[in-house]
Amino acid sequence: MKIGCPKEIKAQEFRVGLTPHAAREALAHGHEVIVERGAGVGAGFTDEDYVEAGARLADTAEAVFDEAEMIVKVKEPQAVERKRLRDGQILFTYLHLAPDPEQTRDLLDSGVTAIAYETVTDASGGLPLLAPMSEVAGRLAPQVGAWTLQKANGGRGVLLGGVPGVSPARVVVIGGGVVGTHAARVAAGMGADVTVLDRSLPRLRYLDDVFSGQFKTRYASAGNTAELVAEADMVIGAVLIPGAAAPKLVTRAQLADMKPGAAIVDVAIDQGGCFETSRATTHQDPIYEVDGILHYCVANMPGAVARTSTLALGNATMPFMLSLADKGWKQACEDDPHLLNGLNTHAGKLTYHAVGKALGIDV
Ligand code: NAD
Repeated sequence: MKIGCPKEIKAQEFRVGLTPHAAREALAHGHEVIVERGAGVGAGFTDEDYVEAGARLADTAEAVFDEAEMIVKVKEPQAVERKRLRDGQILFTYLHLAPDPEQTRDLLDSGVTAIAYETVTDASGGLPLLAPMSEVAGRLAPQVGAWTLQKANGGRGVLLGGVPGVSPARVVVIGGGVVGTHAARVAAGMGADVTVLDRSLPRLRYLDDVFSGQFKTRYASAGNTAELVAEADMVIGAVLIPGAAAPKLVTRAQLADMKPGAAIVDVAIDQGGCFETSRATTHQDPIYEVDGILHYCVANMPGAVARTSTLALGNATMPFMLSLADKGWKQACEDDPHLLNGLNTHAGKLTYHAVGKALGIDV
């Protein structure tokens, strides 16, 4: 199969859909790989890296879209890219169609077979192509929170790990899923005093079994949350209710009980955020202050570490990409119900129920 990888054109997107490693594997499976010149630069991959892997370079995105039977990307196709898609072609990328009727309409009009990373599932009920980005954002959260806490940024001037004779910072993580667990591990590794709150007792049991001694767990009742937030130097928001906006777990009034200069890192901002005072920010201007509390609310945190994020995403997408290329989408989806769950549109028809429900389109 001819596999194409165009350069991402969404603002501030530095990742790339296909790494040179993935290109090499696809070639070893007998496929052809066409990469737009410069596609990997933001993630630290040169054109030569792709050529060495055996890929062919194309001068324009149009050439990639024209020739490829499968397009592998990171972000949802932008309007200009959607015009280039066609019936019979496979699109494998993040789509997030439910809140995006315009994109959905264009994909249906194009007839493309679109497989969305975010709806591919795994045997344990997880989302294997979303998890790597949650791992990245979770591990990044204490790092950006530690920076936010520095005096020059308006923070409390507290060092996460303390020093001998001085207590470490108190870090509270609300939500102990993928983001929360990775955030807690890194904060604890930096020497902070960490507590994870979650509403799921099985999850708290798991965290206690695996991480006992590294961080503490508490049930996320409103009372426990209020108490811990008031004592914290840093609060990391990491809750998720699948398919719904994040619940607001900390109100503006509660900021008055917090320590002046404390830092909030609201990773759940891409679902609206779990603090009443959260609003999405960008890597260019990541923090703002409300009532003396610093807020870091960047909606695409993995973009800050585009190379790590690209490699992590590439590891997760590669087996699915190879299966689609080796077998064609139909056989690949027949053989793997988890990949089939990724199918969102085919030949002008919407094939994913939750998107149909959100947009009022028959599936
Ligand atoms: P997850 O499903 O693995 O974990 C969510 C956890 O929240 C679960 O353990 C759940 O029990 C818990 N939870 C739900 N309601 C709660 C409540 N009221 N109180 C306490 N805990 C509660 O999800 P995840 O992969 O860890 O993602 C967390 C959030 O981070 C999501 O909103 C995701 O979209 C977001 N995210 C953001 C970025 C970014 O760049 N900002 C990157 C990746 C993920």
